Amino acid sequence: MTFPEAVNLPFNGEIIRSRFTQRKPGELVGTAAGYWVFLQGDALLLAEAELYRGDLPDGFISLDRSLLFGEWDGEPVRLMTIPKDHPLPEPLRAVAFGDLPNDLMTLFGLARQILYWERMSCHCSRCGSSMERITPTWGKRCLSCGHDHYPHIHPCIIVLIRRGSEFLLVRKPEWAPGRFSLVAGFVDFGESLEECVEREVLEETGLKVTGIRYVGSQNWPFPSQLMAGFVADYASGELTLEPKELEEGGWFAPDRMPEILPPKRSIARWIIDRFCLGGQEKIN
Ligand SMILES: [Zn+2]
Repeated sequence: MTFPEAVNLPFNGEIIRSRFTQRKPGELVGTAAGYWVFLQGDALLLAEAELYRGDLPDGFISLDRSLLFGEWDGEPVRLMTIPKDHPLPEPLRAVAFGDLPNDLMTLFGLARQILYWERMSCHCSRCGSSMERITPTWGKRCLSCGHDHYPHIHPCIIVLIRRGSEFLLVRKPEWAPGRFSLVAGFVDFGESLEECVEREVLEETGLKVTGIRYVGSQNWPFPSQLMAGFVADYASGELTLEPKELEEGGWFAPDRMPEILPPKRSIARWIIDRFCLGGQEKIN
């Protein structure tokens, strides 16, 4: 089995396949302390450069109960939230997720996505009652109406539009000045990924595209998206930005690039590097 190269991006399971096995609630029993994924805001707490291992440090107050979610290097690994202003005992220090190596960044993202689901699934969205776990899954069953709920992962498209040797980059008003990226958006009701590409590009830029090709995907745990990456060719239309979504946009080239590109960890950057900046000129 082979996958598109994008499978090797952070937040995709492949990155931690050799170190981590995901376990659903109730699958693993036992009391071994193992490893801890301590989440503190946008940071992971590390001991030296690795996950903390052993009994919970004295005085750690958690916002949530700890949750055993898999095995890391063959030992149980639990996630726990640490309040932002909580003092850190030795040897723990907070490392912002963007500074983590790819494997710990990926584990951080997974833990964050699981935690998001746990927080969003306290009550039934149908009747408002409490829920209980459907073991051994991440699902929850309503104690009152019996409805079953499973984690929500939201599909999105992200697309590079090429016109000859140029490509379209856009920016949202909330981004840092000078930062540009690709057109992206959420899949709508009754829509395929390809149809979503067509619609988002037309809505946001006024352009029509053709030759829509899937190039790879990335799990994006901010909070719970699946980014499906595409490359498409310009077909027709004048660039007309949707002002509520985009502040600026234009046709760029390798010798005329914006000041700031998306971070290396993102599929946006992977597509730009690979399909704009010489990684690969042609795709099948
Ligand atoms: Zn209910």
